[in-house]
Amino acid sequence: MQTFPALLADWPSERRSERARNATKDQVLAVLAKDVLEPIDFLTLLSDAASTLLEEIAQRAHRETIRYFGRAVNIFTPLYISDICTNQCRYCGFNAKNSLKRTHLSVDEAYAEAKALHDAGHRHVLLLTGDAPKISSPSYIAQVVRRIKPLFASIGIEVYSLSLEDYSLLVHAGVDNMTMFQETYDPTLYDWLHPAGPKKDYAYRLGAPERAGLAGMRSLGVGALLGLSPFEQDTFATGLHAWWLTRRFPGTDIGISIPRICPHEGSFDVKHAVDDSHFVQYITALRCFLPRSPITCSTRESPFMRNHLLPIGVTRVSAGVSTAVGGRSTENKSVTGQFEISDHRSLPEMVNDIAKLGYQAVIKDWEDPTETSCAAVWQSSQRDLRATWALRSARVLPHSALALPALAA
Ligand code: SF4
Repeated sequence: MQTFPALLADWPSERRSERARNATKDQVLAVLAKDVLEPIDFLTLLSDAASTLLEEIAQRAHRETIRYFGRAVNIFTPLYISDICTNQCRYCGFNAKNSLKRTHLSVDEAYAEAKALHDAGHRHVLLLTGDAPKISSPSYIAQVVRRIKPLFASIGIEVYSLSLEDYSLLVHAGVDNMTMFQETYDPTLYDWLHPAGPKKDYAYRLGAPERAGLAGMRSLGVGALLGLSPFEQDTFATGLHAWWLTRRFPGTDIGISIPRICPHEGSFDVKHAVDDSHFVQYITALRCFLPRSPITCSTRESPFMRNHLLPIGVTRVSAGVSTAVGGRSTENKSVTGQFEISDHRSLPEMVNDIAKLGYQAVIKDWEDPTETSCAAVWQSSQRDLRATWALRSARVLPHSALALPALAA
């Protein structure tokens, strides 16, 4: 099988731009009439011509979402366990050059934070650290995972690039999913954005999802930070990466995250800001291209935007979010988070709002079969069901009509 770097090289930036500028409306409509889309079709849906057919693309995206996901929306919450970082990513508030009070949780402190999240009803958690391998080492992350494992049905990681051996260590500790943001798939831009630190190694980061897949992760996620490059460039490369991973690991869930760049400590000039209309175009094109892939939308987006993205492709959202380290169980609060969030809804509020939209919030959709007996799985599922219904204080309204958000020009 062709490697992903080789596949990406088949799609140089000039080829992407040319298609994005020159695709016609007829070509877009022809793509929408196909059953299965190829990479060239995905690029066609990201074109200027496609931006004038957003309603048609959204209708197909809606049908695909209902076909493969029903009205289920998975909920998770992030748990930042260390913001010490040796990198100097120009767009990030945790950049080593930004002077802010840093916090690194002990395993006991991480457990206390995790317990607070568990007691709030969360069952899927995502662990995050800065890139400081000597402090937030793989063995430290594994210790945290082993300690908090009894509290959660699913533990994911969003940490620095690891070796195959380190991913294996974390899989055996209890991690079942990972997300790796390549940030940008343009190696020259990537080099400028990451002036120093281990993250500067573009190729090593690009290979991280494959190493994690080889280590046995149940679910892999990729994403680019939208706003760094011209619209069609990183959106296409991200979809291509996910598409390649679905072929490389046919039995593995391959998801996509869609972060748009946010304000942070320090300053960063966003040269290619993605407006709401292009954002919707990207999500709907992704859903048509990769109908089975979960799409995650974080609290970088407003409640209004996140609510309206559910019918057209988003299937995973976070709730009860803090991007700072600590503070849920103690007074040990980090003053600054990694970035400003736009959606501050708690888990019950999110569950309630999802129900109002005619969708079903899923707090837990996974139980490690190697960890528990059938009887324990049954008892646990009953407990979780009761917890879910306790959170659903509102009645479930009938399906609301497909409605796109009011789009910015
Ligand atoms: S993006 Fe990640 S690696 Fe880069 S400075 Fe922020 S925390 Fe560190």
